[in-house]
Amino acid sequence: MISRIDFRPLIAKSSRRSEVPSASWSGATTTRLGALTTLGVGGSADVLCRPASVAGVRHAVTSAVTAGRPWRVLGRGSNLLIDDAGVDGWVIDLRRLSGITFGDDGLVTVGAGVNTSVLLGATRRRGLGGLECLVGYPATVGGAVRMNAGGRWGATGERIESVVVVDRDGAVREVTHDECAFAYRSSAFARSVIVEARFRLPHVDPEAYRAAVEEIQTTKAAAQPLQMRSAGCMFRNPEGLSAGRLVDDAGMLGLRHGDAEVSPVHGNFVVNHGSASAADVFRVLDDVRAEVQRVHGVELELEVEVWRRSGT
Ligand SMILES: Cc1cc2nc3c(=O)[nH]c(=O)nc-3n(C[C@H](O)[C@H](O)[C@H](O)COP(=O)(O)OP(=O)(O)OC[C@H]3O[C@@H](n4cnc5c(N)ncnc54)[C@H](O)[C@@H]3O)c2cc1C
Repeated sequence: MISRIDFRPLIAKSSRRSEVPSASWSGATTTRLGALTTLGVGGSADVLCRPASVAGVRHAVTSAVTAGRPWRVLGRGSNLLIDDAGVDGWVIDLRRLSGITFGDDGLVTVGAGVNTSVLLGATRRRGLGGLECLVGYPATVGGAVRMNAGGRWGATGERIESVVVVDRDGAVREVTHDECAFAYRSSAFARSVIVEARFRLPHVDPEAYRAAVEEIQTTKAAAQPLQMRSAGCMFRNPEGLSAGRLVDDAGMLGLRHGDAEVSPVHGNFVVNHGSASAADVFRVLDDVRAEVQRVHGVELELEVEVWRRSGT
């Protein structure tokens, strides 16, 4: 089943070889991870590798485990805040896992590294809909499944039929929808690598669907600072409340440290004006949490995932 997928490279191979050479991946030890994220802050990983196949992913995971090193998976980096000192261990960048195959009855099989905007375009051209939940933000398919990304217009997991993962022992496994444990911004995949996702999508009227997608884009563009670097919503919405509204009501819009600022447009976004450091972003987040706690008595939890070296 995996062999049906065409894992074409999306990005050029690095000219350097990783510490553990392999024909199925390339690696570099010096790339600043911040450059691979939408927020744009953060240092390097000890090892960064870019597998272009499922075999390459298995090799990366088992090599890291055998070496006794921590490993993490990087998608589009749109939900990550990476520390200035970077991270220890291995970062496995999945952007080269590409390929979209169409089956019968709206079945679509997608490599985990495919951009969700590419998936949206390809499915729409086939008269398939149901992916309104993915409109208006950058992500890979693997990251969207892992986070069960979405919002007002649904969540990714609702359209998933099954997911193929590589486990930490290198085993490849197909996981059914019911086993995915989709919940608010979470799934069962905290310790596995999603390499492929199978969506079951409804046939739709192309014009009506296009209009719906454009309306969502317009709504989001009016309410969110989409032209600025950010990691989307920094805090989870507390039960029955909007984190952005709590920040706004606490008077924190526009709070700024260095080049990191609480967006004046949306209280749950911290934007990078160009040269923010992770330290700037952490200071903004600390101040916001303290003030929201003081004003509203509510403790905000991070939605953005923080990556930092062990013990720091
Ligand atoms: C402007 C903006 C708007 C946003 N709006 C929304 C929104 O409306 N709704 C929403 O839910 N999110 C939103 N986000 C956040 C983000 O886009 C989503 O969380 C997205 O799903 C992250 O996907 P990614 O590929 O960038 O994952 P990353 O940020 O790279 O990773 C996020 C997590 O997923 C893990 N991961 C990534 N790929 C895989 C994989 N293949 N297998 C296993 N684990 C993996 C990573 O290890 C990490 O734990 C927004 C972000 C931005 C910048």
